[in-house]
Amino acid sequence: MAKLLLVEDDEQVRTMLGETLRDEGYDVVEAVNGREAVERYRDCPCDLVIMDIIMPEKDGVEAIHALRREFPDTKVIAISGGSPHIKGDYLLGTAQALGAIKTFAKPVDIAGLLETVEEVVGR
Ligand SMILES: [Mg+2]
Repeated sequence: MAKLLLVEDDEQVRTMLGETLRDEGYDVVEAVNGREAVERYRDCPCDLVIMDIIMPEKDGVEAIHALRREFPDTKVIAISGGSPHIKGDYLLGTAQALGAIKTFAKPVDIAGLLETVEEVVGR
């Protein structure tokens, strides 16, 4: 069973995505910010990381950078809706420059996300 690390500070979004991915049969580990994401990944490397960008403590851009420096093979899908101060497209472009395989603007296209997850890790 493929193991996914879901990193999202918004509890509602995290719960929804977590349930959706578990329903599809994936083993999902959750983290609420980038710092926790790096700790979880160190404990147990996952097949794929789904990473929100705007988060407290350590944001997704920093976390992708840290993960891929320590574990160059880390596969990441980035998600973001941006904020009133910074456009989601800009953040997702940065995530892609740091090696994210694919990015999704919020609200996340669930069917597209599931398709991408399956492409990357299988079922
Ligand atoms: Mg967020």
